[in-house]
This record gives sequence, structure tokens and C-alpha cells, in this order.
Amino acid sequence: MATLTYCPRCATSLTTKPDGGRDRIACPDSGCGFIHYGDFSIGCAGVVMRENRALLVQRGWQPFAGSWQIPGGYVEHDEPLTEAVEREVLEESGIRAEVRDVIAFRHSLGGSIGGPSTNLYVVFRLDPIEGEPAFDGDEITGAGFYTLDEMAQMEAVQGLSRWAIEKALASSPGAGLLPESTGPGAGRPGWQLFGL
Ligand SMILES: [Zn+2]
Repeated sequence: MATLTYCPRCATSLTTKPDGGRDRIACPDSGCGFIHYGDFSIGCAGVVMRENRALLVQRGWQPFAGSWQIPGGYVEHDEPLTEAVEREVLEESGIRAEVRDVIAFRHSLGGSIGGPSTNLYVVFRLDPIEGEPAFDGDEITGAGFYTLDEMAQMEAVQGLSRWAIEKALASSPGAGLLPESTGPGAGRPGWQLFGL
């Protein structure tokens, strides 16, 4: 994996220094203080149910072009998590939906599923609000609501998506982690708190 050479904050040549029990890439400029803790990313995806049918989209791009999965994508660094998943669902499927609860998350170390970043992938359940399945024909080449039986007849439904849909079907909406409107820091700009 490529390593950093210059400080991303002040452009000084980086060195290493011990921090928290290991040597880390760090900026020698004491006024800067940059320490590289690693590459992290956050992904999000949504299970959207209509009766006993779940929303799936078909990937148009590699990797896994042609496979079906629940809609989702990466969270921008300055974007609230719930807004990110509602945006991804709308962009990929044309369905406007609203977050109900968190039903699962996966933690994967960099390199273990293809990307270089250590990733947290949060799966939400969302309530459909309006819209019919629609897609751009490029990044996404199909979208629709399907039963588990129908999915069994489709080619290449992503295992994690099907697992998340089964989790959603086995629990009541609202039984997972809920966005909290009260509690420590709740309502603070830029914060989102989730709890049972
Ligand atoms: Zn620096």
C-alpha cells in the first residue's frame, strides 16, 4: 500500500514517531502535529420494504457488474449518516425513503474486501415515502422490489444484502438502533446519536 511522503497539512516531509504503543507516520513540525492513524471510510446501505418485497438495485459498474444489492454507498466526511443513506437510496433507485432504525453493521479491515480503507458499513431500515423504482441505466441498470423467493430465481444477489433483508424481515420496524432526539449531544450540529 502506498504511504504518505509529505504532510497533508503543511507539506513537510513526514517521519515516524511513537504514539499509543506503535510507530506512526507523523509530521516533525511541532506546530503542525499531524499523525497518520490510518485510512478509514464509512459506507451505508438501506433495506427498504414494501409489504414482503425489498428494494434491490443492479450494479452497472465493476466490481460485480450485473449483481443485485440493496442501495448504498460511501458517506461523505461532512454528511450526516442518515442523510447519506437516504441520498444513496434516492440516487440509485428513485425511491424517497426515511430512516427508521439501524439493523446491522460490518467492520472490515483495509484490504479484506478490496478497498484500501478500514471500513464501517452501516445497514439501515428505511420506510418508503414516495416514488417508483427508476435508475440511470449506467451506474445502476435495474431497480425494483422483490420477494425472497423472487431473489432466489435472480442471478447474483449479493449475500450480504439478502442477509440484511432477512434480518429486517425477522424484526419489527423500530426494533433496531434508533436515531435519538434526546441524550448527550443529541441535537448538537454535526452529531447523530443512535440507541436501543
Ligand atoms: Zn505537518
